[in-house]
Amino acid sequence: PDATDGPVGEPVLELDGVVRSYASETAVEDLSLTVGDGEVLTLLGPSGCGKTTTLRLVGGLEHPDAGAIALRDRPIADADDGTFVPPEHRGIGLVFQDFALFPHMTAAENVGFGIEDWNEADRRERVAELLELVDLADHGEDYPGELSGGQKQRVALARSLAPEPDVLLLDEPLSNLDVSLRVSMREEIRRIIDETGVTAIWVTHDQEEALSVADRVGIMNDGRLRQVGRPERIFERPASRFVASFLGRTGFLSGERQADTVATDLGRIDADRIADLDAVQGETVDILVRPDDLRATPTTEAEAHGRITSRQYQGPSFVYRVETAGGDTVHCLQNHTEVFDVGQPVAVDLVADHPLQWFPRD
Ligand code: ATP
Repeated sequence: PDATDGPVGEPVLELDGVVRSYASETAVEDLSLTVGDGEVLTLLGPSGCGKTTTLRLVGGLEHPDAGAIALRDRPIADADDGTFVPPEHRGIGLVFQDFALFPHMTAAENVGFGIEDWNEADRRERVAELLELVDLADHGEDYPGELSGGQKQRVALARSLAPEPDVLLLDEPLSNLDVSLRVSMREEIRRIIDETGVTAIWVTHDQEEALSVADRVGIMNDGRLRQVGRPERIFERPASRFVASFLGRTGFLSGERQADTVATDLGRIDADRIADLDAVQGETVDILVRPDDLRATPTTEAEAHGRITSRQYQGPSFVYRVETAGGDTVHCLQNHTEVFDVGQPVAVDLVADHPLQWFPRD
């Protein structure tokens, strides 16, 4: 499957074949990526996959061993000719997960830190404007020790935006906040990004955060960018089993390609419901099905597609694991009122209204 969607907006930041190795391993491997003007691109991947190193390369905290990085067509790093613009001259703002505020400076002084070369009046005005933007107009004189985690994060964001960067880099900006605060803070950060029009790369290991705040999501693994695309596309049409499995619970339904259908344990699925199905007749394929694609209905043993093997309560919903007669494992998302027992025989309907992704048998 096609693994990329192009940038949203005019290209602003371009990475071309970037490599960064350490003595023992390659942290970033041949990474090429274009980020568009005003776009929010989230980078998602397991621990150690190279997300932070990618941000540090863009921010100028690391030198690439190979490849080049350009910002608005201006090279900022190029391993071939040694070009290396230092971080403070890149026009890039960085927000770290630990906020990195100066404890002995007030919120307002922290925000004004990166624009000390501005004249006093402009600086004062810019700081006030940013404190207003992040909803901390009344807290300018507070010290970081007097602020909550969410407030500190907003000061850090305001500080990085003060010099009007072209690009904002956020490294796991919510990981030091309480879970209950993360959802509202991610909406807040997205609002602030939109109001300033800055282009952003946002690193996270939280799949829900990555999908919900992004214009495009990039999935990394082992130092490589595996797929970049709009959130719905990455979710519905993952380019590999790795990408599929990284975005929530997945099930695979094995089936045999026939003339106009694929024969599975859940019955025949019309071939035209499966995206770009080019498997030949008789070939076995695996069809990706997520919990929200399937619904279970209790039925008799004789009419069942399988039986329930586990139940997980999720508040507003249940997820039931179903083992099919032929041994496939799938999950069904049901309303919290649909209480079925483990062992219950069920018919499973395919309710997905998007083209289904398939993978050739390994
Ligand atoms: P996490 O989500 O855990 O922060 P990450 O995706 O951000 O992980 P990186 O921090 O970019 O991953 O690290 C990528 C790989 O490079 C890891 O295996 C890490 O151990 C290694 N690495 C990163 N920095 C260094 C360094 N300064 N020296 C040696 N190895 C490093």
